[in-house]
Amino acid sequence: MASLYIHIPFCLKKCLYCSFNSCVAGPDLYVRYVGALVEELDCVAAALDGRPINTVFIGGGTPTVLPSSLLVRIVSHCRDSFVFSEDAEVSVEANPGSVDAPYLESLSRGGVNRLSFGVQSFNDTELSRLGRLHTAKEADAAVRHARNAGFCNINLDLMYGLPGQSVSTWQDTLGRAIDLGPVHLSLYQLSVEENTPFEKLAAAGTLDLPGEDDILAMTEAGDRICGEKGFVQYEISNYSLPGFTCRHNITYWHNDEYYAAGASAVSCVEGCREKRVVQPQQYIAAVAEKKNLIVESERLAKEESFRETVIMGLRLIKGVSLKRLEKRYRIDPVRYYGKQLDILITSGLVELTGGYLRITRKGRPLSNVIMAELV
Ligand code: SF4
Repeated sequence: MASLYIHIPFCLKKCLYCSFNSCVAGPDLYVRYVGALVEELDCVAAALDGRPINTVFIGGGTPTVLPSSLLVRIVSHCRDSFVFSEDAEVSVEANPGSVDAPYLESLSRGGVNRLSFGVQSFNDTELSRLGRLHTAKEADAAVRHARNAGFCNINLDLMYGLPGQSVSTWQDTLGRAIDLGPVHLSLYQLSVEENTPFEKLAAAGTLDLPGEDDILAMTEAGDRICGEKGFVQYEISNYSLPGFTCRHNITYWHNDEYYAAGASAVSCVEGCREKRVVQPQQYIAAVAEKKNLIVESERLAKEESFRETVIMGLRLIKGVSLKRLEKRYRIDPVRYYGKQLDILITSGLVELTGGYLRITRKGRPLSNVIMAELV
C-alpha cells in the first residue's frame, strides 16, 4: 500500500505566523498549475506500477483556494490513474473562509472523504491577530456545511499559545470545536518561525505570547477536554475518536514510504527523500519542458534512518514498535542507545512496554528534549 501527498502552494493571503511554501496567485496560475500537477501524477502512477494507494493527502498552502472543479479534477485524475484500496483515505485541507455548501458538496461527490479544516481559534480577536481571513462564525458554518455534504471524517486544526490568548479563551475554542462534532482534532502550539512577521514582532517585544505556566495549563486543558469527550490522544498533537486516526500522517510517523507531487512537495521512496522545485511557475515550466523536478535529494544511511524512525515513532503515544525496528534495521534500540536510553528510562521519561518504546506521560512536556537526546 502506498501514500501520496499532493501540494497546492497557494493561499489567499499569508498568515502572519506562516513559514510554509505558499504564495498568493490568481485563477490563470491555478489552471496551469493543476495541468502540470496531473502530468506529474502520471509519472507517479508509472512509478507505482499498479501498487494500490491507501491514502492521498492534498495539502498546502490552501487547497480550497482552487475552484472546486480543479480540486475534483486532481482527485478524479488520481482515481483514474491509480489503483485505490477499497477504503482509501482521501483528505483535503480546507480553509473555512474559502468553502461554501456547494463547494463541499462537489468535493464529496468528487471522491474526497476526509476534510481537515484550518480553524485555529473560535475567537475573532485571536484569528485577526494571526492574520487569518476567516471568522469564528465562518468556521462554524463551514463545518456544518461539510457535515450536511456527507463528510463524517472531519478534522479541525486548533492552535494554542497565541498572542493575547488566555487559558479560558482556549477552553472556549476547544468546547466550540467539539460541539461541532469533528472526529479528529489537531492541537498545535504556536511556534514563532524564522522569516515571518511574527518573528519581527517577537524581536521587537510586541508579540504578547502567553507564559510557560499558561502554556502548560493550555496543554493540560487540551488533554482533559478531549479525553472527557471521548477523544483518544494517539500522537503528541493529535486526538481522534476511535477508528478515525489520520492514516496518511501515520505513514510519516512510522517513517514509511510516501510518494508526492507538486511544487516543493517531498517524497520518500526506497530510502531516498526528494524535494521538488519550489516556485509554482518554475514547477510548471519544468513539467512542460520535461526537466528533472527534483532540487534536493538525500539518501539516508541505515543508522540515520533508524534514528529518524525512532524519533518519528516517539511522537506516537503508543511509541515505536521494537519488532518493526528489528525487522527493518536489525537494530535493538536498547543496545544501540545504551546509557543514553537508560538514563531516560530511569528518570521515568521513556518506557519499554508491550513491545514498544515510548515517551511516558511525565515525559510528554519534555518530548522535544527527549527526541533531541536520541536523534
Ligand atoms: S492558510 Fe495555512 S498555509 Fe496559508 S498562509 Fe495561512 S497558515 Fe500558511
